[in-house]
Amino acid sequence: RSARKDLKLYKIYSPKLSEKSNENFDLSMEIPRALNERQFFLCYHPKINLRSGEVEGIEALIRWNHAERGFIAPDNFIPHIEKTSMINKVTEWVLKTSFSEIKNMESENIDVNVSVNIPLKILENPIIVRYLKSYKKKQLPLQKLELEILERDNVEDFEITASAVKTLKKMGISFSLDDYGTGYSTLSYMQNLPFDKIKIDRMFIKDIETNGNTREIVRSTIGIVHILGMEVVAEGVETKETVEILKNMGCDYAQGYYYTKPLAYREFIDWHKKYKASEV
Ligand code: C2E
Ligand code: MG
Ligand code: MG
Ligand code: MG
Repeated sequence: RSARKDLKLYKIYSPKLSEKSNENFDLSMEIPRALNERQFFLCYHPKINLRSGEVEGIEALIRWNHAERGFIAPDNFIPHIEKTSMINKVTEWVLKTSFSEIKNMESENIDVNVSVNIPLKILENPIIVRYLKSYKKKQLPLQKLELEILERDNVEDFEITASAVKTLKKMGISFSLDDYGTGYSTLSYMQNLPFDKIKIDRMFIKDIETNGNTREIVRSTIGIVHILGMEVVAEGVETKETVEILKNMGCDYAQGYYYTKPLAYREFIDWHKKYKASEV
């Protein structure tokens, strides 16, 4: 009888459980301090134009060097932060930092576009649109900004987000649909939002050499996307063979460890110099 009771108690007060629920709670509470103490930094992942071989843009990817917990990968905090209003603060920080860093890259002779990941539902709140409008007033080149939208988002008011997307497009910002093929609403998103690019998820790209079905799925996706007047980015390209297959399929851009892992500011500048020198 008492053993059973203990078991119940253990289940309820299991440190593992309480740790887990606290963890998510704490992380969003800790954002203001993390911003204050500069615990975030950005890594940049180049996007290669498959026809010219040039670096057409870079994707800004957030990194959190937490004071006590050490390094936390974005997949372990972004999905939770996205459920709180803290995502606005984090997104503002990413926009501001990436803008100032690409501006600094100009003095290193690097002229690239930058992509920033945002959850679509962030646009239901006018805060980010207002923020970007204020950038426009300061004459920052919004033509250089692309917003990558995640398919996993459920928006509450599609009308509001769609009209925010239109406003931002008029300001020169372009849009891409991230992680294509892994979400629930791919086709309705593609039908109803004016994307410039579609990013095919790594899950498909990694099997392209070995799985004939996957290869045909990717080939026909590229076809549809082109018919709709958009461009295709392949994510997670890791080998030369995959690059060749994608080129033959007419894919426009590639990103992946084959070129480099995402790199911090200084490392990216060094990589870019070497890449440019090795290009034929
Ligand atoms: P994502 O936007 O789809 O970014 C691609 C992820 O795949 C990155 O992971 C990148 O490092 C990784 N990756 C790229 N190429 C390869 C490859 O060839 N092989 C392998 N194994 N992995 C590759 P990361 O940086 O850990 O980011 C994970 C996700 O976190 C991102 O997926 C994005 O959804 C989210 N995220 C990252 N930074 C931000 C941010 O600033 N704001 C928001 N809202 N989300 C972010
Ligand atoms: Mg992305
Ligand atoms: Mg992606
Ligand atoms: Mg992803």
